[in-house]
Amino acid sequence: MKPGLLERLAEGPVICAEGYLFEFERRGYLQAGAFVPEVVLEHPELVTQLHREFVHAGSDVVEAFTYYAHREKLRMIDKEHLLEEMNRQALALAKEVADETGTLLAGDICNTNVFVDDADSRAAVRAMFEEQVAWAVEADVDFIVGETFTFGEEALLALETIQATGLPSVITFSIHQDATTGEGWTPEDACKRLEDAGADVVGLNCARGPRTMLPLLEKVRAAVGGHVAALPVPYRTTDDEPTFHSLRDPDCDVIPAGRPFPTALDPFVCNRYELEDFARKANALGVDYLGVCCGAGPHHIRAVAEGLGRTPAASRFSPDMSKHAFLGTDERVPREYKEYADRL
Ligand SMILES: [Zn+2]
Repeated sequence: MKPGLLERLAEGPVICAEGYLFEFERRGYLQAGAFVPEVVLEHPELVTQLHREFVHAGSDVVEAFTYYAHREKLRMIDKEHLLEEMNRQALALAKEVADETGTLLAGDICNTNVFVDDADSRAAVRAMFEEQVAWAVEADVDFIVGETFTFGEEALLALETIQATGLPSVITFSIHQDATTGEGWTPEDACKRLEDAGADVVGLNCARGPRTMLPLLEKVRAAVGGHVAALPVPYRTTDDEPTFHSLRDPDCDVIPAGRPFPTALDPFVCNRYELEDFARKANALGVDYLGVCCGAGPHHIRAVAEGLGRTPAASRFSPDMSKHAFLGTDERVPREYKEYADRL
């Protein structure tokens, strides 16, 4: 029997790689806008490969790529008939990699984009969660993530659905510019409410980069007693532009609609050292479920792992500039090349 999420968290931090949507969008296998994980059915081998790359880089969790594989999103692209097949396939792909690597298998539900806090929408949201959670349970997941919630009440519905399965739950909020949920709850209040309702891990994911998520995490950590999650986007958000949606790029005048989100964020990408630094600082605060969201590459995940003092398989190839042709200090680098270094 492999240890479950809560057993692993009792021993130390757990790393969960995310960011599948952005990675497959930039590779050209799903469309920005609707952001539906069609790659799961069209190129399953690529999804399996990315799962493996994230584990190689240090992820302790293989999260099934069911983010936005929900009824509303499939309706948006007129492919509602693929809903069940897409979910079951995503879960099977993740399970295969979790089984072969001894990592945890996570089911995933998320913001439905139909929640408006009336009885009809609550019923619709609940039904969407129930069908996805049921497929996850049938795939024998170890726990279920409910993520990227703007509304606290929607997150509570997700938690209720997960709790009905008896599996551990991770619930994370996406906190936008005004630093509250859609209802106006502070992040710490939102996390406290979810913890009080029984969530095993609460915290924040997406929307904010390391620099603008960290101050919120400090307050969340102070408000809750249990495990805290942090999965920022790897972008250089600022006090004035605290979310990746709000970033602007005055140096570039060719971006459609003038908004770098989501397809022109390249100049804002954090380097690996910034993610390593974030992981170290967040963990020092007491955050123990760590990852990276939209925009993450395997090098970011490796940096998080190394920030926690680990050496995942990919650390074998972590940089060693002593062997560089010009910048290297190794005795085998010719003196003439070392002297040329300043001219590079
Ligand atoms: Zn994200």
